[in-house]
Amino acid sequence: MIQFSNRYIQLPDVLWRRQLPTPLRNPRLLSINHPLADALAIDADWLLSPEALSGLSGHSVWPGAEPIAMKYAGHQFGGWNPDLGDGRGLLLGEIIDSLGCRQDLHLKGSGPTPFSRMGDGRAVLRSSIREYLAGEALHALGVPTTRALALVGSDEPVQRERRETGATLLRVANSHIRFGHFEWLCHSQQHTELAALADHVIARHYPECLGAEKPYAALFAAVVKRTATLMADWQAVGFAHGVMNTDNFSISGQTLDFGPYAFMENYDPALICNHSDHNGRYAWYLQPSVGFWNLNALAQAFTPLVSVIDLRTALEQYEPVLTQHYDGRMRQRLGLTTLEAEDKTLVQAWLDLLRAGDKDYHSTTRQLGMTRVEEQLKAVQQDWPNQEASATDWLLRYQARLHRERSVEVDRQQRVQQSVPAYVLRNYLAEIAIKAAEAGDAQPLNTLLAVVQSPFQVRDEWSAYAGLAPAWGRCLTISCSS
Ligand code: AMP
Ligand code: MG
Repeated sequence: MIQFSNRYIQLPDVLWRRQLPTPLRNPRLLSINHPLADALAIDADWLLSPEALSGLSGHSVWPGAEPIAMKYAGHQFGGWNPDLGDGRGLLLGEIIDSLGCRQDLHLKGSGPTPFSRMGDGRAVLRSSIREYLAGEALHALGVPTTRALALVGSDEPVQRERRETGATLLRVANSHIRFGHFEWLCHSQQHTELAALADHVIARHYPECLGAEKPYAALFAAVVKRTATLMADWQAVGFAHGVMNTDNFSISGQTLDFGPYAFMENYDPALICNHSDHNGRYAWYLQPSVGFWNLNALAQAFTPLVSVIDLRTALEQYEPVLTQHYDGRMRQRLGLTTLEAEDKTLVQAWLDLLRAGDKDYHSTTRQLGMTRVEEQLKAVQQDWPNQEASATDWLLRYQARLHRERSVEVDRQQRVQQSVPAYVLRNYLAEIAIKAAEAGDAQPLNTLLAVVQSPFQVRDEWSAYAGLAPAWGRCLTISCSS
């Protein structure tokens, strides 16, 4: 049983519509997320009960839940769209987790809502599995993200490029409020409601702003900082989001709405993971600037609440915060503990080397933390056949840098191995789990889930998950269709 404590529904009713879920045909529970259930103080055994499945599949509404579809808008691929909102998911309500923090429970794939436009309100099993895995993978890498507590499959036919089946995902987020919520209230000139939403966001996510001289300006500045940090996290862990529309940007700074995302494999900053992104608007190397673009759209929406000068001042903090956080994470990946002015170029030279050698972003860096640099210098001809000179040069620089900080070798190796995952959620691994689940076997999915939840700890039985993608897995195309 889940104890709800719903606050969002107390906001002005222009922001939401009551909506019941539409039942899925022949639902079955495919997975529950045990560590998350524990963190939420939800009894995992209860999640296995018929009552739980009934609520997870839209056949009933759990006591205390008050399902609503949220209204928002947003900029999609740079174009303004006022007609967005939860078109295939419902906020069931809020709960208090084991740390006393408020969390949203959102049932994604639960059927049509007043904001479905021409859509069927469904989410296919394939994309639901991808979202489920991505949340866990990012969380384990220390990146703020929405997660999911349970995944349900069904016989519900859903038409996409091919006929697929519908699924639901019980998504858990500290907020489902998007940049697009603010954009919609501003553009539709509902300024009283805009202030009410800002008050709600301050109370729930940024209580430290309450005491500020100008709370709304402080709120915007805090959102700038959290977004900057998130973008730095994505770049450092090699995550490509794929659909960075403002309706997919959370006001609380969590990663939200996983579509055609990817984790970087062979290092290529020009990576465009979304097959439908023909112009490369959301190419990986552009993510930090898109984050800034989105904050500018949000700033526009804040103009009824905050002066332009205060908005500009806040936006000026974006780049320094992002850079500082990114530099810190990248130093950690190289096992460095101190800070030197030259580190930026050392990191960049490493990335250039990976690019030139067409090397895997994660495993090559982890390799750096497996043996002494002297050993790596001896093996350079074998490891870097076409980059022997530049790799030698880089390793010598790195070695000198380690000497300067009096690096202790065992500690360095441990630091790298705790910062760079041994197991990466590669698209081909997700694909194998998806194919099996579509054929009725959820075991590969549940094993992969456990693997991405513990990406740093090597285990013999997980050796099949540590390898690079086979040839078939390198050319998977993932579109927006979900
Ligand atoms: P997304 O690309 O998943 O972020 O979705 C963008 C917008 O389209 C959101 O307002 C979604 O709720 C809506 N949407 C996406 N897919 C569907 C669908 N199958 N049925 C109804 N609405 C959808
Ligand atoms: Mg979305």
